[in-house]
Amino acid sequence: MVARLIDGRAEAAALRARVAAAAAELKAQHGFVPGLAAVLVGDDPASDIYVRGKGKAAIAAGIASFEHRLPASTSERHLLDLVLRLNNDPAIDGILVQLPLPPQIAPQRVIETVDPAKDVDGFHPQNVGRLWSGGRALVPGTPYGCLMLLQATLGSLAGAEAVVIGRSNIVGKPMAALLLAENCTVTLAHSKSRDLPLIVRRADIVVAAAGRAELVRGAWIKPGATVIDVGTTRLPAEGGKTRLVGDVAFAEAQAVAGAITPVPGGVGPMTIACLLRNTAIAACRRRGLAGPAL
Ligand code: NAD
Repeated sequence: MVARLIDGRAEAAALRARVAAAAAELKAQHGFVPGLAAVLVGDDPASDIYVRGKGKAAIAAGIASFEHRLPASTSERHLLDLVLRLNNDPAIDGILVQLPLPPQIAPQRVIETVDPAKDVDGFHPQNVGRLWSGGRALVPGTPYGCLMLLQATLGSLAGAEAVVIGRSNIVGKPMAALLLAENCTVTLAHSKSRDLPLIVRRADIVVAAAGRAELVRGAWIKPGATVIDVGTTRLPAEGGKTRLVGDVAFAEAQAVAGAITPVPGGVGPMTIACLLRNTAIAACRRRGLAGPAL
C-alpha cells in the first residue's frame, strides 16, 4: 500500500479563503474589520519569520494586522502593560505573543494576562479548561489544524484508536482533548512512555508531535492508519543547506499507512490558517454575532 498524501497546503488555502469571505461579509454587513495584534520580543530569526508570515496571511484574508516589536531587553512589566493595552483596544480582536520569550519574562504570566476572549493562540487557562470541559473555547491552531486534516481524510473519527506522541501544552495535550471530544479512544504518549512502538502499533490515528526527527518508524505503523506529522526539525543537508524533517520516517511510513501528511506541506500551513480562523471567530463572539461556520 502507498499512503494517500494529505495536502495541508490545499486545505489551508481553502480555510484561508473561507476566512477571507467571512471577513468581507463582516465588513459589508457590520462595518468592522477583524484585527490581529502580534507581539515579538527580541530578534530570534525563526520567530521573526513566523510573525511576518502571520501578518501577511492576515492582510491577505482581510484582517487588519498590527505588529509590536520590542527589544530582547524588554521587562516583563513593559510587556504586560502592552498586553493590557491591547486587551482594552477595541480595534484588536486577537492577540498573539510569539514564544519563546527572553528569560526575564515568565511566559505563563503573559499567557494569563491576555484577555481570554482575544486569546487566538488558545493558551489561556480559561480556554484550556473550556476545551477539556466541552465549552466554547478558542483552540490552539496547530492541533485544530491536525483535527481538520483528519476530518477531511476520514470523516467521522468516532471510535478510532488515536495515539498522540508528545504532551506539550501547545500541541499534544490540546490534540488529545480534541480527539477525545470526537469520541476517539486516546493515548497520550511522551518521553517516559514505555514501548512506544507497541503503543503506536494499535493506533488507527497517529499524531506525532515530539520534535524528534524520524522517531516513528514504518514498522510501528498499523497498516492503513492515518498519520499526522507535526514535527519539524531542521537537519543539515548537502551544499551547506538545511532540510526540514518530521517526526515520522516518511518513506517507510508511506509504504504502510493509509494516509499521511508530508513535511513540509502538511500541518504547517494549517497552523496560520487556524490562527486567522480564531481571529474571525473572536471578532464575532466579542460583538455577540453568531459568525460564519469556519
Ligand atoms: P515540546 O518540546 O514542547 O514537546 C515535545 C513533547 O514530545 C514532550 O511532551 C515530550 O515528552 C515528547 N517527547 C520527546 N521525545 C520523545 C520520545 N523520544 N518519545 C516520546 N515522546 C517524546 O514540543 P512542541 O512545541 O509540542 O512541538 C513538537 C514538534 O512540533 C516540534 O518539532 C515543533 O517544531 C513542531 N511544531 C510544529 C508546528 C507546525 O505548525 N507545523 C507547530 C508547533 C510545533
